Amino acid sequence: MTDCIFCKIVSGDVPSSKIYEDDHVLAFLDITQVTPGHTLLIPKQHVADLFEMDSDLASTVFARLPKIARQLKEKLGAKGLNIVNNNGELAGQTVFHSHIHLLPRLEEGDELDIRFTTHEPDFAALGQLAQDLYLED
Ligand code: AMP
Ligand code: ZN
Repeated sequence: MTDCIFCKIVSGDVPSSKIYEDDHVLAFLDITQVTPGHTLLIPKQHVADLFEMDSDLASTVFARLPKIARQLKEKLGAKGLNIVNNNGELAGQTVFHSHIHLLPRLEEGDELDIRFTTHEPDFAALGQLAQDLYLED
């Protein structure tokens, strides 16, 4: 896609700090470095988000995560790592070429703040919702 910054990174028209590349994916350092080593993994093929991915492309992209995560852990001495994948504006997506953030966790009190607000479980509501959402194989 001509107007897409990540497609321009794939084509080499925009520079990036690559850490992994093969025929189908590219991984490069996020310019904002929320945590040291913050990396983006993208398919070379332009798809806006997860909703546009078919299973073959998803398998290809997601299968690369463990080895890139291990590389970040080993080289940076990370004690943990979060994966974040924003889909849609409401979910915080700002670049509409699908990408997965890999965020190495080096120390407590770093600058990544992911918060889950938990609620008391309502098992009747969970059962109803699961029924509504149930997806046949
Ligand atoms: P998201 O908010 O999930 O869409 O994330 C988009 C990410 O792309 C942000 O964390 C940006 O810092 C990052 N980003 C945008 N432009 C570039 C670029 N040219 N090189 C590397 N990272 C970029
Ligand atoms: Zn693109």
